[in-house]
Amino acid sequence: MFAAMRSERMEALHLYSDPATGLEAVVAIHNTKLGPALGGCRYLAYNSLDDALADAMRLARGMSYKAALAGLEQGGGKAVILRQPHVADRAALFEAFGRCIESLRGGYITAVDSGTSSADMDCIAQHTAHVTSTTHAGDPSPHTALGVLAGMRSAVNARLGQSSLAGVRVVLQGLGNVGYALAELLQAEGAELLVADLDQGKVRLAAEELGAQPLAPEAVYETPCDLFAPCGLGGAISQRSAALLRCAVIAGAANNQLVEPELAEQLAARGILYTPDYVINAGGLLHVALTHRGVDAGEIAGRVKGIGERLDSIFAQSRAEGRSPAEVADRQAEEILYA
Ligand code: NAD
Repeated sequence: MFAAMRSERMEALHLYSDPATGLEAVVAIHNTKLGPALGGCRYLAYNSLDDALADAMRLARGMSYKAALAGLEQGGGKAVILRQPHVADRAALFEAFGRCIESLRGGYITAVDSGTSSADMDCIAQHTAHVTSTTHAGDPSPHTALGVLAGMRSAVNARLGQSSLAGVRVVLQGLGNVGYALAELLQAEGAELLVADLDQGKVRLAAEELGAQPLAPEAVYETPCDLFAPCGLGGAISQRSAALLRCAVIAGAANNQLVEPELAEQLAARGILYTPDYVINAGGLLHVALTHRGVDAGEIAGRVKGIGERLDSIFAQSRAEGRSPAEVADRQAEEILYA
């Protein structure tokens, strides 16, 4: 385990067990150079503790990079609660986890992630102040969508030399909390929208409300467009899907879009501008972190818009140095974290 921690440059791993509630949890703290670690809490079933630890460490590292490039005085961390087949009292489980977080005395701040809800965060908040995205703090998804929109403008400008999204043909994969809000923003900008979701009800709604053209989920990659926006699950860009893509730009909200980091080079070689996911989707993190610090809504909105300027600088450096935007983003983050 120490070798894995060294290779991920992980600062700390905390394991918790509370037999009374069935809680088994991991908190991974990757890097606190910029401030206390912040990152969501997953509540998922894992095949083994090793799998849970690996997931927590990988995600905590990603949070450090995301916070660094979002300009936050915040480190990277992640929590994982191992979901058991039967839970007698979910509220008691999250309350117990709140006591674990409190014992870290502010070194880690938690938030909603896969499998958890604002109601779960409210349970945690009964025992610690080091929690955000409670029902009181609100849903970060609309802020993620606004950041993605700013990032799309930057990417379209860099690749197509066009400062507006009007008339840009967008294939949007995933109409969830972020994807649907983004579809509304794109429609208001005059983009041409083609949408797909596994849930046909969401697709029908987007067609009716926004005039979007429905696509079958399996058709998203090969449909010609200017911009492909992955807003579903991670891993949308694989060797297979990358070969099918017929777009100029990839820019979307999903985390971990590339199945392998090498795909960034391959996309660049095909003339497809890939927008680094953790840079473009940082709007939700900005909202969560700055709300927690009591920053006002106007300033937060300005910081979310700033994602476009960060990407302008990444794309310019990528052009100047002949490296992919993904590699440039990683190097910029590492300079901040390790210089
Ligand atoms: P969500 O669960 O609300 O929505 C995801 C949607 O994608 C669902 O409607 C689902 O049916 C659809 N989907 C899944 N696989 C699909 C496929 N193969 N084809 C078409 N549709 C598919 O999730 P969300 O909160 O909107 O987040 C979307 C993505 O953005 C996730 O990867 C998430 O990790 C990432 N993200 C979200 C936030 C946020 O603020 N919510 C912040 C940063 C990153």
